Amino acid sequence: MRAALMPTFAPATEMVVVRGKGPFLYTQTGQKYLDFVSGVAVNCFGHAHPGLTQVLHEQAQTLWHSSNMFRVPQAERLAKRLVKHSFGDRVFFANTGAEAIETAIKAARLYHFESNNQRQRIITFSNAFHGRTLATIAAGQNPAHMQGFMRGDFGFDQIPFEDIHALQAAVSEHTCAILLEPIQGEGGVRVFSKQFLRAVRALCDATGVLLIFDEIQCGIGRSGKLFAYQTTGVAPDIMAIAKGLGGGFPISACITREPIGVKMGLGSHGSTFGGNPLACAVANKVLDLVLAEQLLTGVLRHGEYFQTQLSGLATAHPAIFGASSGKGLMIGLTCNIPNTDVINCARANGLLIGISGNNQVRLLPPLNIEKIHIDTAIAILYSVAIQLESTGV
Ligand SMILES: *Cc1c(COP(=O)(O)O)cnc(C)c1O
Repeated sequence: MRAALMPTFAPATEMVVVRGKGPFLYTQTGQKYLDFVSGVAVNCFGHAHPGLTQVLHEQAQTLWHSSNMFRVPQAERLAKRLVKHSFGDRVFFANTGAEAIETAIKAARLYHFESNNQRQRIITFSNAFHGRTLATIAAGQNPAHMQGFMRGDFGFDQIPFEDIHALQAAVSEHTCAILLEPIQGEGGVRVFSKQFLRAVRALCDATGVLLIFDEIQCGIGRSGKLFAYQTTGVAPDIMAIAKGLGGGFPISACITREPIGVKMGLGSHGSTFGGNPLACAVANKVLDLVLAEQLLTGVLRHGEYFQTQLSGLATAHPAIFGASSGKGLMIGLTCNIPNTDVINCARANGLLIGISGNNQVRLLPPLNIEKIHIDTAIAILYSVAIQLESTGV
């Protein structure tokens, strides 16, 4: 059945997901799974959330798409709210994370170009992930993602994670921006320390280099704050968000400070679908839900509880599990056997978890998860450990 698709993905063959409700997914054959992948941090309120489906229905019956040739009130409102709740002043809407990063790169380069300097190069960090378009694979510098697609470096320099000396050495008169995920996701869940981010901010302020945060995965409540940078005391100049923003509907945004955003003048950038009424109506509802009282405190509380339970699991089964990492409900769990064995065994036991770098598995439950579901996931992970120990993997 998959012969007509490019073989870019390899989903579990036996599973055909046809329906979702809250934190659960159901297959064609009626099997039920607890979903702690959440579409990779996308379905932040689980599946088929009544508030989100209602807004989607209403907007679908009214107007899906008009074009950026006309005003879109839903987009204007969403931009205003994102500005109100962030460091930013100007917003550009797109559809995917990679597009939001592309916008961030263009905005940073145009800012310096318009300031009549030679700055084009962007510094990123090891294990970064910024998307799969040409510019974003160049930013990520993952050889497996770049192989065959480009020669040269597209203007990116990569340095080791949290290496301030390497960063100071890498900044030159050609450096335009520093790009990082405050909490890395794909390359292993790793949190940049406040101390390091403060040093980066100081370096940027001293040199005029712009600071870009990729909050595509860690933004929209995942960290326990609306944006992960708000847990650090360090604000960027440009930020990309996506994934959770639409709660499952594709939408992304690039947010900038005024002097940067205002330079993205007429004709400098565009998008056919970006900021359409349907996506923006849904994203406005997602913001209502994330900003509702108690939601973010629940993310923090459940995240801490989850990590405490995971540390107990690792202590009980050190042959299988190691340390956990992350913040809020963006959690990585280190495996001491191949992470794919853990993922497959968890699936066989009714729990869906994601893959990550550094041989971690990634746990990304919906933001409105209940304690009972975390307890279920933990119980399944204990069974997984016991089963994998007994098979002697
Ligand atoms: C998912 C992700 C992207 C890419 O988003 P797409 O929607 O797949 O283009 C970029 N950066 C980070 C940190 C991500 O997690």
